[in-house]
Amino acid sequence: VSGGICQRAWVEIDLAALSHNVQQLRQILAPHTQLMAVVKADAYGHGATMVASTVLESGASGLCVATVEEGIQLREAGITAPILLLGATNTPQQVRAIAYWNLQPTICTPQQALIFSETLGNINSTLSVHLKIDTGMSRLGMPWEEATQFVQLVQGLSHLQIKSVYSHLATADSPDLTIMKLQQQRFDEAITKLNNAGMKPPSLHLANSAATLTNPALHYDLVRVGLSLYGLYPAPHLQNAIHLKPNATNSKVCSQRFSATGTEVPTTNQCNVIAINLKPVMQVKARVTQVKTISPGTGVSYGYRFIADRSMIIAVVGIGYADGIPRLLSNKMTVLIRGEKVRQIGSITMDQIMLDVTDIPDLQTGEVVTLIGNDGDAYISPDDWAESLGTISWEILCGFKHRLPRVAV
Ligand code: PLP
Repeated sequence: VSGGICQRAWVEIDLAALSHNVQQLRQILAPHTQLMAVVKADAYGHGATMVASTVLESGASGLCVATVEEGIQLREAGITAPILLLGATNTPQQVRAIAYWNLQPTICTPQQALIFSETLGNINSTLSVHLKIDTGMSRLGMPWEEATQFVQLVQGLSHLQIKSVYSHLATADSPDLTIMKLQQQRFDEAITKLNNAGMKPPSLHLANSAATLTNPALHYDLVRVGLSLYGLYPAPHLQNAIHLKPNATNSKVCSQRFSATGTEVPTTNQCNVIAINLKPVMQVKARVTQVKTISPGTGVSYGYRFIADRSMIIAVVGIGYADGIPRLLSNKMTVLIRGEKVRQIGSITMDQIMLDVTDIPDLQTGEVVTLIGNDGDAYISPDDWAESLGTISWEILCGFKHRLPRVAV
């Protein structure tokens, strides 16, 4: 069993699934469209260096991180691929680190562009930069109406080379495409103005996973995919979406005929329809550390939020909220043992949880409990936890702490 006999709990990372997902996603991209793997937040909790090496070997062209420190971590691990810094950086100290480690920053404001240009001048260095415009997310970026002036200003500054102009979508995972279409329209309008002013950006990008799975017209020159790399779908309606296999000549034709809900199946024979199948990469496992019988009326765990109504066998498992198991799942969570669902009982504690294993009377100390992942035919997804907690799978993935070793399988 993975994790080593000493491990009380661990996270398994299926690198073959990760590689498979890159290849599946590449299938719906035109040959010239690059796939940038979003590996911020320690690759959504999967382990950034391990994930980065695998995705680059499998067909990703580069990596996206949120912070300078995340970029440095990858460079220190020997990764030489382009690294796009999605977060904002404003201080001369950050600029020097970005230059030293050859990261590609996002520039969102004229003030930031000036700080970069001046600091890079002082150290006689030049950087490729990505200009971000806000088309409706209301997060980082210059307002889309001001894109032309912004690009013009940056073009006029020394030590900065514009590598791309990009934006980010707010509602790409919604079945209602209205807002996404509006953002796309604004992006296209801004780009048309730039082209007309003779300032055609070398590269354009807009799509996260949901947009990548929705419509090839959103792919532009590269896609920035996170969640889907890790084998999860941004929304249920994207799980069974029909995709068009684009090639250099037909992607335009196909894109007009496609809808994420799969209702507008293309009628032209220029487009091949394909389905892609993503495989979850992460599993979370722990071991049974003690098994005992409790009598009716016995309280379990802090606050006695569970009281046995009959004689029960319970198992103690070595994983808790300090490992990233949300305490809000107390008394609500199911786990898998020997391919069967088992309910968790009582408050989740810092390092341990208790399970009702009355139906497995021969359960042994050391047996493996699956909290997230497959056991036999049964599967528990981060989406199941997200649904119980009223959150999203992204947060669940990022929530597993470093105390849990990441084990490649
Ligand atoms: N692009 C940007 C700017 C992001 O912030 C993120 C993630 O939050 C992504 C792309 C990837 O998104 P997803 O994980 O939905 O693919």
